[in-house]
Amino acid sequence: MVPHFLQTPAASWRERLRRSPSVLVASDFDGTLAPIVPDPWAARALPGGLRALSILARYRPGVSAAIVSGRGIADLRSRCPVQQVWLVGSHGNEIAPPPRQPPLAWSAPAFPQAALRQIASTTQAWPGVIVDPKASACALHFRQAPHFAGRVESLAAQIARDYHLSLMPGKCLVELVCPEAHTKGQAMELLRRHLNSDLVIYLGDDQTDETVFTLPSDQFIGIYVAPASMPATPVIEADFNTHAAYWLRDPEEVARALRFIARLRLHPEGIAPRRLKTMRQPA
Ligand SMILES: [Mg+2]
Repeated sequence: MVPHFLQTPAASWRERLRRSPSVLVASDFDGTLAPIVPDPWAARALPGGLRALSILARYRPGVSAAIVSGRGIADLRSRCPVQQVWLVGSHGNEIAPPPRQPPLAWSAPAFPQAALRQIASTTQAWPGVIVDPKASACALHFRQAPHFAGRVESLAAQIARDYHLSLMPGKCLVELVCPEAHTKGQAMELLRRHLNSDLVIYLGDDQTDETVFTLPSDQFIGIYVAPASMPATPVIEADFNTHAAYWLRDPEEVARALRFIARLRLHPEGIAPRRLKTMRQPA
């Protein structure tokens, strides 16, 4: 059983958050910071979660923040207008530092252009199917055209065979990935080392986030965000198929949890929640 992140009063994460010299707080985007919507291009993060990450990130040193996604980095940046936050796109294959911070030594394998051309020419006859090329992958979305799901999956399987790519199913999408591409877990471990963080708190709702949840628990605390189909009955412990240490119900609870993390980390002695919004930023 997985305990609820906020409703477990004696949870050890609170003490670890207070005493770790350097903390990285990182969150997945879709389904975690942003509610899942029928049109993936209409997804928007809830402002409370973004604001909490932004506040955490401004209080360097000792705290860093990152937003992680399967989306390409340009797409992610356009949806996350936050300063001082690391952006990790394409499932960990693009990593962008905040302004005035040095980039990581990082290179991602390139997606084969011939495969991309074949995908584009085939899917142009399938209205509603969206092709989303990234650094080391290409996603085919069929949320707006579910009747093409079978054809999209067949095409992806054929392209995967022809170009020796891996297939990664998602929510109303299938993604073709270079086999040597990095995972979110590898990217987060690299970022943790780069930032010299003792503790990473990571929130996510996808299968790809499990690559972070399986990282060593003395350095990583994983928080799984439940699917939207989760019944509304309040439960403190729930049975999920995840390696995460805790769970949260939805992006609303994620925003609440991030605000709570910011308050505990920046004011461990205790402070009225409304003060957090009006705190002066450090020089
Ligand atoms: Mg997600």
